[in-house]
Amino acid sequence: MVDCHSVMKRLWEYLDGELPLEEAQGLREHLAVCARCYPQYQFQLAFLAALARAHAGPAASPRPEFARRLRAALAMVESSPSF
Ligand SMILES: [Zn+2]
Repeated sequence: MVDCHSVMKRLWEYLDGELPLEEAQGLREHLAVCARCYPQYQFQLAFLAALARAHAGPAASPRPEFARRLRAALAMVESSPSF
């Protein structure tokens, strides 16, 4: 069984579709039953959707540096004691 900590650590990779199938399955099962991780999953999903919309123009190209900084900022929020 996947624990909350490893779910949080892998959530971005899961959302990016970068996890191996077995691990993705484990995360999906955990998210389905965990009241602590699920809101975080929904938040990141909504965040990615907003990001995709912001980049949805025909001339838009992915900006890895921008995404990396956003993720770093989010990681700080996630690791803060109030979370
Ligand atoms: Zn959990």
